[in-house]
This record gives sequence, structure tokens and C-alpha cells, in this order.
Amino acid sequence: MVKGKIIILKFLLLFIVLILGNAWGISVFSMNSTVEDLILQSDLKDGEALIWYLGHAGWAVKTKNHFLIFDYVSNSRFAQQPQNLSLSNGCINPSEIKDHNVFVFVSHGHLDHYDPVIFEWEESIKSITYIFGWKVDRKPRYLYFTEPRARKTLNGLEVLTINHDFDGIPEVAYLVKVDGLVIFHSGDHGSTGEKLNPIFKDNIDYLSQQARDIDIAFVSQFGSGTSDGVNNGDLYTISKLGPKVTFPMHKGGGERFYKEFAMEAKQRGAQTEISCAQKNGDRFFYQNGKIK
Ligand SMILES: [Zn+2]
Repeated sequence: MVKGKIIILKFLLLFIVLILGNAWGISVFSMNSTVEDLILQSDLKDGEALIWYLGHAGWAVKTKNHFLIFDYVSNSRFAQQPQNLSLSNGCINPSEIKDHNVFVFVSHGHLDHYDPVIFEWEESIKSITYIFGWKVDRKPRYLYFTEPRARKTLNGLEVLTINHDFDGIPEVAYLVKVDGLVIFHSGDHGSTGEKLNPIFKDNIDYLSQQARDIDIAFVSQFGSGTSDGVNNGDLYTISKLGPKVTFPMHKGGGERFYKEFAMEAKQRGAQTEISCAQKNGDRFFYQNGKIK
């Protein structure tokens, strides 16, 4: 009887601590990360994906057997870091994904695409593979896609790159075939002029021969001389690669502008579903060629 009372009292105390903690803004218990833990354990089928927006050009994609991370940059670089790192607030917390088969992609060395914080994840994630579009350092276990239009098959993934040096440094965009999905991440590969940059056009033509009807395209929104929304390069990418779903990106802190891309692309006849992240940690579920 007394023991029962003590247990009830403990629950009551825990409840009070949680309520007060929340009221004072102390994260005693993060509801979001618990939800994220459950979601991370969910089984996906071939052709399905869970997608998180990690800010700017950063994305996480969970597929049936793999967990891909593209161009992750820690929030602390540009804004205040949340107290609890979690996918739910657009941050990678390695302990959250430690049992996943993780592949980290970095398109090029600019600070808004590459953050050495990614190397800290090796300590806690058992299966992690790093893929770079340039020679970042000499660690032999990292994979470097430095040769032009490389193609490599790795542990259930096929990775293809296109290359450019529009900003004077080596850069790639990635096409990844994984678990019944084809995913494109543009990095900074873009063409903002009225007339398409010939290297850009040639790259997209090449990729379109390697994979038609891709599932998911992450496309950097650079705008043009006349518009902040969509440009001819984006429309060309969409028409040639035919992504079922397109996510505009590269407007970290200005996410409201993604809607402009979506609106203009639709007005100009783009045949793709355009999905817009609104804040870091936004999560999307891709199934049967659509965002659910
Ligand atoms: Zn960039």
C-alpha cells in the first residue's frame, strides 16, 4: 500500500518537473525527438522515403536500407543551435541514427555545403561512408568522386556525378540510385542566364541518359536576372530529368522564397510536384511518386 503511494508520488513529481521544465523553457523531455525516434524505426518499402530538410542545401533521406545525408551544415554556423540536436529541428544527432547504414554526401567545399562537424559522427555511427565531390583530405577510407562523370556502386547504392567549376573550385551534383529510388541533389550546379550554360546543359543531358523519370530532385534556387524564383536552368533540369517531386533549396533563412519557385515553375509548365520546406526539420514522406 505504502509502495503504491510512493510510485504515485514519483509520477506526480515527474509530471510537475516536466510541466515546470516546459514552462521555464527547459527541455527536460523532448517530445519531438521521441516522435523522431519512432519514425526512424519505421520500416520502409522499396520506392519509399522519409525526407528531412536540414536547412539551406542540407537534406536527410531514409530509404528501406540506407540513410543518406546531403550537404549538411550545422545550424550553429548561421543561427543559434537548438538545445537538443534532432532531425525534428533539422540537426544531425549521431546517436539518433547510430544504427542506420549512413552515407554522407558533400558536393563541394563551400562553407554553406561542407562542415567538418560531419567527421565527428564516425565515433558513434557504426556504418558510415563519406562521399566527396573533391579531394577533401587524404583519409583513404573516404570516397572521392574527383574524376569526371564518375559512377560507383557501393553497398547497395549506385552513385553518379556530374562536374563543374563555375565558382573556380571542383564541384559535383549527385544522382543516387538506392532502394528503388533515384535521387538528384544539384549542389551548386545551376545556370542563371537566359541562355543555358553549355557545360550545365551538357551535364543535364548526360544525366538524363543515365536515369529517366527520377523520383526526387533537390534543386538549388539561384533565380535569374529577372526573377528570384525559377530560372531556365531549373526548368531544363526538371524537363530532362522528369523528377516526380522537386524540392527547391539553397535559401537557408529565406525559406518563404521556395513558394516563389513553386509558383513560377508551375506557371511555366514544369511537370513535377514541387514541395517546399518552411523550416529546418520539416519532414516529408515519399510514396508512389508523391509526397503524402
Ligand atoms: Zn551553395
